[in-house]
Amino acid sequence: FTPIHRSFEAQAARQPEKVLFHLPDGGTLTYAETEHTVRRIAARLLADGVQPGDRVAAQVQKSPEALALYLATLRVGGVFLPLNTAYTGTEMDYFIGDAEPRVLVCSPEREQEHAARGGEQLIVETLGTAGDGTLLTSETTVEESYAAAADTPASILYTSGTTGRSKGAVLTHGNLASNCRALLEAWQYTDQDRLIHALPIFHIHGLFVAANMTLVAGASFHWLPSFDAEAILDLMPTSTVLMGVPTFYTRLLASARLTPETCASMRLFVSGSAPLLASDHEAFEAATGHAILERYGMTETGMNTTNPYDGARKPGTVGKPFPGVQIRVTDRESGAALPDGEVGLVEVKGPNVFAGYWRMPEKTAAEFRSDGFFITGDLGRIDEDGYLCIVGRDKDLVISGGYNVYPKEIEERIDALEGVAESAVIGVPHPDFGETVVAVVVPQAGAALEPEQILAGIREDLARFKQPRAVKIVKALPRNVMGKVQKAELRKQYADLFA
Ligand code: ATP
Ligand code: MG
Repeated sequence: FTPIHRSFEAQAARQPEKVLFHLPDGGTLTYAETEHTVRRIAARLLADGVQPGDRVAAQVQKSPEALALYLATLRVGGVFLPLNTAYTGTEMDYFIGDAEPRVLVCSPEREQEHAARGGEQLIVETLGTAGDGTLLTSETTVEESYAAAADTPASILYTSGTTGRSKGAVLTHGNLASNCRALLEAWQYTDQDRLIHALPIFHIHGLFVAANMTLVAGASFHWLPSFDAEAILDLMPTSTVLMGVPTFYTRLLASARLTPETCASMRLFVSGSAPLLASDHEAFEAATGHAILERYGMTETGMNTTNPYDGARKPGTVGKPFPGVQIRVTDRESGAALPDGEVGLVEVKGPNVFAGYWRMPEKTAAEFRSDGFFITGDLGRIDEDGYLCIVGRDKDLVISGGYNVYPKEIEERIDALEGVAESAVIGVPHPDFGETVVAVVVPQAGAALEPEQILAGIREDLARFKQPRAVKIVKALPRNVMGKVQKAELRKQYADLFA
């Protein structure tokens, strides 16, 4: 077992002159230069009094130095706590109050605001996107690097807050390192790869999948501050891999520049964090000749399953467990294991599964079975080829008149209709049925849709209790920065439809 920061240090020693970051302005940073920045930040954190186990929170814009801050935190034995840059004052109060970090690193503009937030314990440092800020004022560096054990906490990563308040997931050095190894092996990722990194680094996808893999393999990044379809298309001819959320692919598909020629040097496109539309999967393959590889994971567990690198990548599925990971599907009520083909709770066990929710022992206990399986809160089934299909979240399940309605089944029918771009099916309170089904539908650009058309289009294929009682035509679905549809927001919006 080698912790992530030690693997990075080994790469920096092995290939100091290799470029790690290719930046949008044409600038580059080598492994050695990045390692030097890590050592400077580590020295600063030690000077701030950070001791092993202390939390270091970061609410900073994406930059090479922000990634160095992550490595520096691990290097001194701290617990890294990245926070969404969009969080406002009240949200920050919750995270700071909950996690009690020793140091909070923020953007220079927010220094005053955050200084007022913390008690006497909290030290506020700043880091800007040009390497400016208090974090990098000193030239002092440190040599030593924390010898973490596999079960030592490395990070508290807050979940995306899609279904409720974000929970802090405590991830150990062993969780991060083992999941990274499994990903490298499954996707054949090596030091020859150059990744287009356009994801945020406060989330598992951009940090513990994309960044860890690159640092540990000794590969390099095209480092983009955020998603930009044109910039990505410009970089593709000098890249090998793209990791994105489904909306990346939806937006790339809108460009006429997306052709087999543009993608000639690319070997892998990965999608995750939310379901990829099967129609986007097919359209992407038609446009580029590449089948997008969809995988499934979550903050609490890292990556659980993946479509194969060699072999059939099946649209609408998330593939098979990574090496060392076990998956099972269980009955929602009894918890008994279900045969393949039946829909139930997806449970996971393996070295990737987190140590528990931060300061929520009851919640942690409630989400684990006695044999160590973690209940993900997602519903799924195993198909005839042994591939896992996620059918939605348990919290999004609609129970209408006592019948279970799986939104995805209805969404797939609606999405297949002429003129439909995408849809979200939700349950809203209903006086007779407890809950009833409502479909929120986005038309394709230029298409005019009427609710009656949608209802007529699916009437033949779906049992009466699954048919929406109302269809709302909207311009766009509410999404968070990870491209996740905010169903809770839709439920709130339409709560009074039948009340
Ligand atoms: P919260 O737990 O706070 O409600 P969240 O579950 O959205 O938020 P994350 O840990 O970022 O927070 O997301 C994990 C979830 O994302 C999974 O549980 C699953 O519902 C969804 N997900 C990830 N990858 C896929 C995928 N390929 N297909 C379908 N769903 C996916
Ligand atoms: Mg979740």
